[in-house]
Amino acid sequence: MLTTNPFETLDGDKLREECGIFGIWGADNAAGFVALGLHALQHRGQEAAGITSYDGAHFHSHRAMGHVAGNFDRDDVMRKLPGRAAIGHVRYSTTGETALRNVQPLYAELNDGGFAVGHNGNLSNAMKLRRTLNRRGSIFQSTSDTEVIIHLVATSQAASPTDRLIDALKQVEGAYSLVVLTEQGLIACRDPLGIRPLVMGKLGEATIFASETVALDVIGASFIRDLDPGELVIVNGSGLRSFRPFEKASARPCIFEHVYFSRPDSIVDGTSVYEVRKNIGAELSREAPVQVDLVVPVPDSGVPAAIGYSQESGIPFELGIIRSHYVGRTFIQPSQEVRHLGVKLKHNANSALIRGKSIVLIDDSIVRGTTSVKIVQMMRDAGAREVHMRIASPPTKYSCFYGVDTPERAKLLAAQMSIEAMRDYINADSLAFISIDGLYRALGQDRDPNAPQRCDACFTGDYPTRLTDLAESDPDASLALVAAR
Ligand code: AMP
Repeated sequence: MLTTNPFETLDGDKLREECGIFGIWGADNAAGFVALGLHALQHRGQEAAGITSYDGAHFHSHRAMGHVAGNFDRDDVMRKLPGRAAIGHVRYSTTGETALRNVQPLYAELNDGGFAVGHNGNLSNAMKLRRTLNRRGSIFQSTSDTEVIIHLVATSQAASPTDRLIDALKQVEGAYSLVVLTEQGLIACRDPLGIRPLVMGKLGEATIFASETVALDVIGASFIRDLDPGELVIVNGSGLRSFRPFEKASARPCIFEHVYFSRPDSIVDGTSVYEVRKNIGAELSREAPVQVDLVVPVPDSGVPAAIGYSQESGIPFELGIIRSHYVGRTFIQPSQEVRHLGVKLKHNANSALIRGKSIVLIDDSIVRGTTSVKIVQMMRDAGAREVHMRIASPPTKYSCFYGVDTPERAKLLAAQMSIEAMRDYINADSLAFISIDGLYRALGQDRDPNAPQRCDACFTGDYPTRLTDLAESDPDASLALVAAR
């Protein structure tokens, strides 16, 4: 069993991050568009934000802790980010030191000029590469896995800047969607398995890349297409070129983007997140029906699945829990104590509705179980007669090493307990999760167990890449991971 986080660095800052990225080429006041795009991607990371622009002669950068609004709605800041090209990043790193030096875009002066990069994902061999680079004399400025890419580019012997980036990316394992700003153009790239999303859009003459389509919507840009897994696109004054430099692999886009991470109004890998979540609710109702008075979502993430559950079962949908929108995501709190407080701050029972009723609560996932324990108790305190719980994803049994924040395995409730023990722990009258096959059906796919079409490692332990750092830092943990499957 995994009890330590192999990605924790010496100063306690985890390399694992949740992030959103945005890049634009060919628009006046490019940084202004990036600020708006990042605002629409704020749900992907709320700890810090940064923008780097290029004005044809110089790079300009502003990186700050905190939200996009408050940092990038200020004239004095935006005036310092001139140019017709810019990239940006929102970041959430889990715990430990929250240092400004890790806030992206990261920037370096390389042989061919400035190089700024924003990364969504996580490299599973970053520590190993870093050790090798360190031995060869690289001096790292941050504890971020993304900086490894910069050093690999800097030390590559390939002929052109693009070839040096490709050379670097051929050495990394794991998940990466990237936006890279150089003097030669804006580059966007998706890892060979396409684990994290990345879309391309257009606004007038300008080309845009973003983690999700909502970031195109917010500036009125039109969606062109998803970047293909393993595709690298360069846009500059000579137009747009697409490359597929990596060995072809079967795509494995992250299934959790659909379950929780992406905004419901985004289209991810060609599918509406909202529709998928409603389908999950309908599947869940067929797989795990229950006779109750009301279907109640845990807001906001449980809402679309609850609508689907209600429509399929014919049981009325009601807002039995009201969420305050002035508190951040429960999960994203520095300590267990604050996380508990966060849940109380965030949700309140609609007691007048709940009293005397039997209800089924719908949430997207159970991670540590903190939310479920509190919410079930809240419903009982509000006078609910029966409280059943249905979860719109399979049990989360494995940590993510590809850029979605999940705690170490030891803290994942489903890794520690049977479903019956979990039911008892959260004090629900019944508890059921959607099956992995049901989840794929909601996405319109038949899961092929021998070649799954998605990365579903958080539910199955079937990691689609090598986990070199994990295997090297803790061989027992990596063996246990395989054995536990
Ligand atoms: P927990 O309270 O630890 O069981 O966490 C479950 C709650 O956190 C669910 O209501 C989800 O909406 C939310 N959640 C699940 N995964 C994540 C994540 N990776 N980042 C932030 N929130 C999450």
